[in-house]
Amino acid sequence: MKILDMLYEGKAKRIYATEDPDLLVMNYKDEATAFDGAKKGIIDNKGIVNNRVSCLLFNLLEKHGVATHLVKQLDERNVLVRRMEMIPLEVVVRNVIAGSLAKRLGREEGEVLPVPILELYYKNDELHDPMVNEYHAQALGWATREQVAIMQQKALQVNQVLQPFFDSIGIILVDFKLEFGLAKGEILLGDEISPDSCRLWDKETLDKLDKDRFRRDLGKEAEAYQEVVRRIEDALSDMSI
Ligand code: UDP
Repeated sequence: MKILDMLYEGKAKRIYATEDPDLLVMNYKDEATAFDGAKKGIIDNKGIVNNRVSCLLFNLLEKHGVATHLVKQLDERNVLVRRMEMIPLEVVVRNVIAGSLAKRLGREEGEVLPVPILELYYKNDELHDPMVNEYHAQALGWATREQVAIMQQKALQVNQVLQPFFDSIGIILVDFKLEFGLAKGEILLGDEISPDSCRLWDKETLDKLDKDRFRRDLGKEAEAYQEVVRRIEDALSDMSI
């Protein structure tokens, strides 16, 4: 697949056109940002880890009937995906209280929720990704009520696959963020699922194996990302992608 012009450069990835108008290449970088880009750094080989983790997890989700943009992993840092019109919403699923939820509602991090919490955020760095609901989405033209309902149902389905999978490799899936897009009218899961977009805690030690190591200056970010990919690859070693 011939890679053509760069169409977009984001904080963690670049997007390239290909000869096929329906397909794009996503290229993963090592640059790490937090707090809407205010904090910047590099996590060695993060791009390689995130590309691999995301490809393995999207492949696992496809096997469980979740439609995604994944076509195939091309190499260490590049993945071929379906071109989509992105819906400017972030769908967050939470199994354990952490991060902004702990802060906003004055709760301790680590409290296990009896049922998952679903949240929607409007994807806009300048506005610091404000929390919205399905009424905002519909009234402001980001997605129809039906599309929001589909995204929420898919997000819970993703949780039902990934929570037990992570548990089986000794990791608590605390929370994660998903993004969706439209390809020929169909809602597909897009973007990435990686230690950048999930909170992953070691089940035994509760060590953080995700971007909170960078956000909170905990050190050993690269090692934590490597540990996640190692455990996932061990568990899914028979999976060809
Ligand atoms: N998240 C993300 N991108 C964002 C905001 C959140 O990937 O722009 C992920 C984050 O890594 C965590 C989950 O969504 O796994 C919930 O994040 P939270 O709302 O607690 O925000 P944070 O504390 O990261 O600002």
